[in-house]
Amino acid sequence: MPNYQNYVFVVDTLGQPLSPTHPAIARKLLKQGLAAVFRTYPFTIILKKTVENPGNEALRLKLDPGASVTGIALVNQSRDTVIWAAELTHRGDRIRAKLTARRVVRRHRRCRKTRYRQARFNNRKRQEGWLAPSLKHRVETTLTWVNRLISSRPITDISMELVRFDTQKLPNPEISGVEYQQGVLFGYELREYLLTKWQHQCAYCGGQNIPLEIEHIQPKSQGGFDRVSNLGIACHKCNQKKGSQPVEQFLLPKPEILKRCSVQPKPP
Ligand SMILES: [Zn+2]
Repeated sequence: MPNYQNYVFVVDTLGQPLSPTHPAIARKLLKQGLAAVFRTYPFTIILKKTVENPGNEALRLKLDPGASVTGIALVNQSRDTVIWAAELTHRGDRIRAKLTARRVVRRHRRCRKTRYRQARFNNRKRQEGWLAPSLKHRVETTLTWVNRLISSRPITDISMELVRFDTQKLPNPEISGVEYQQGVLFGYELREYLLTKWQHQCAYCGGQNIPLEIEHIQPKSQGGFDRVSNLGIACHKCNQKKGSQPVEQFLLPKPEILKRCSVQPKPP
């Protein structure tokens, strides 16, 4: 059970928003014939007589946008109570499915025995600020509801809960573990980062312009961590030669290289 009561919205004789009222009062007004139903959802009543000096309380509209559901709440600022709340269920996945179905039909049309159709897959242009249809729908339906609520509610403020995480803006990739980075860019960004870190050289023989492999400086079998700080770049020959021996043992004849390598790994 929600711990709030959805209030009934009220508009005056001219359709101007007044403070929402408790359902019990609205029921009384309707019963006494002082008001009529203006809209069923969100439930709004229209007063039949003009009200002198209606006391409008400040309302804040709060939005919590989500991928499948956006939460909307109206909060009475002076009393700090939720007076109306709703969940807007988005149909982004259905839009996507429909567009995919359409694309399949159109693509299949090309292999039917019909007149020649020029390939047109590559002549599309996207305007600046283009959003995927499923995403655009999410923005637009939320805006529709915000406008609908603003038009018949004395709303003074809007606040929005924004959660955004931009991995590309992480100033230091070292703060995240390998698993953390296994997103879309995994294998590219990590490789680029390691190549830059090790100056495009094999960490052990210093070989350049040869295929380089990502490898664990301290092997996992020797307790090495799965972190970026424990990853190095080595040529295939060194990688094979090193195998699963501890890095200290492998680099015993090359103390200065060992020094450089053992500075790098940090425990998580
Ligand atoms: Zn090497």
